[in-house]
Amino acid sequence: MQKILNYVNGQLMPPNKGMYLENYNPAEGKVYSLLPNSDESDVALAVQAGQTAFVEWSAMPLAKRAAILQKIADLIDRDADKLALAESIDQGKPLKLAKAVDIPRASANMRFYATASMHVSSESHLMEGEAINYTTRTPIGVAGCISPWNLPLYLFTWKIAPALAAGCTVVAKPSELTPMTAFLFSELCIEAGLPAGVLNIVHGLGSKVGQAIVEHPAVAAISFTGGTLTGKTIAATAAPMFKKLSLELGGKNPNIIFADCDFEGVISTSIQSSFSNQGEICLCGSRILVERSLYDRFVATFVSRAKALLVGNPLEEQTQLGALVSEGHLKKVMSYIDLAKQEGGKVECGGVQVKLAGRCADGYFVSPTVITGLDQQCRTNQEEIFGPVVTIMPFDTEEEAIAFANATAYGLSATIWTENLKRAHRVAHQLKSGIIWINCWLLRDLRTPFGGMKQSGVGREGGWEAMKFFTEAKNVCVKI
Ligand code: NAD
Repeated sequence: MQKILNYVNGQLMPPNKGMYLENYNPAEGKVYSLLPNSDESDVALAVQAGQTAFVEWSAMPLAKRAAILQKIADLIDRDADKLALAESIDQGKPLKLAKAVDIPRASANMRFYATASMHVSSESHLMEGEAINYTTRTPIGVAGCISPWNLPLYLFTWKIAPALAAGCTVVAKPSELTPMTAFLFSELCIEAGLPAGVLNIVHGLGSKVGQAIVEHPAVAAISFTGGTLTGKTIAATAAPMFKKLSLELGGKNPNIIFADCDFEGVISTSIQSSFSNQGEICLCGSRILVERSLYDRFVATFVSRAKALLVGNPLEEQTQLGALVSEGHLKKVMSYIDLAKQEGGKVECGGVQVKLAGRCADGYFVSPTVITGLDQQCRTNQEEIFGPVVTIMPFDTEEEAIAFANATAYGLSATIWTENLKRAHRVAHQLKSGIIWINCWLLRDLRTPFGGMKQSGVGREGGWEAMKFFTEAKNVCVKI
């Protein structure tokens, strides 16, 4: 069986203690490879390699550093089909989606930050006749980058690209549920000539490898994407050590639909924002709020479109929803559907596990599920499910829509549908979310600040925000 290896100090190597974890193909419900069950000794080696490599990497001319990152992007493009297939097998997502979104975005992340690093300029502040201040930004050192399983290579590169472009070295940990494309990525880094120790990838459990990265005194910054509870644990460890922290956490995002919307646009985009990637995207709009005069028509049309979605073998072209990432996650999603029923919800469609024939007979498939009849405060509407499950609730006024939208502990993203320009801006202004889409969803410009409010996170990624995160400002004041 294939063994995934760690990537430490430029070498692909087994974990120190020789222990491995099983890696599942979620569409088949079967183990298909093994990944290192690394521990703090592997992390210690990786951090040491990062510290040594930092001297050369942080001093390398920007253009040379950027050329290496561009080369990695070229290699991702060259191997796009192979990477997309690996992502689909490892994660359960439709191959078509991995080809169209995940892998192109991974190469775009590398290219975006490779070029961004060459456009950095420093600030200066003149004190008339007295002094001049200039501010430099220097890379922070060894950065820890910890990523989740839902968009594996996409989010892995979203973190390491700005860190490397800023001149940091990195110790990274992909999710233990989806390690494969990060492993293939380490092979591409070697081929691209990335100097040894600049990027180190240590595979294994969050509680062992992730925790060891966060605890290591020589790791100066932690960039984390994952669940809110994990974020709390990480913050509790890192904050007393005065580490820089960027936390991209969970969401319970509202999709607010006013009666004056472009109805066809709303339906087709809301199907996407509800069920893309099996609903396993932190930005999915899992709470659909519809103005009462449109409510019945919306529910009828949306439910009929959700019923028509094809759940199937992720490798087949026509499949629209693939498998959930793991058996554990399948159980979690099903338990929330049970909870919704107990809370008085009506399952309009879906709500069941899908049993496929043949190769995928034991896979973790759930039908697209639409639930109505719940109030805003119930657990189903307050807690993140992170699966193909949405609720639909009516509202009567703009004020009520805003109050409902803001009525959770999360504040990641929100979508607003209306043809009334003034209302669109007015509502956007009052939503407590870090990312707002008006009449669209998941339209991404990599230059914009990305992140959440409240329990959806701390800090912002994207554009200069990420470059700033991985560097420290130093002001020099010169008397003239
Ligand atoms: P998770 O928190 O379980 O795991 C994320 C990563 O953290 C994994 O690599 C895991 O091994 C590691 N980890 C676990 N415990 C750790 C610890 N104590 N110390 C250090 N690392 C540890 O999250 P998940 O289940 O992989 O991902 C799903 C979650 O991610 C959802 O809540 C989703 O909303 C969130 N997410 C957020 C964004 C965003 O940009 N805000 C994007 C994608 C996913």
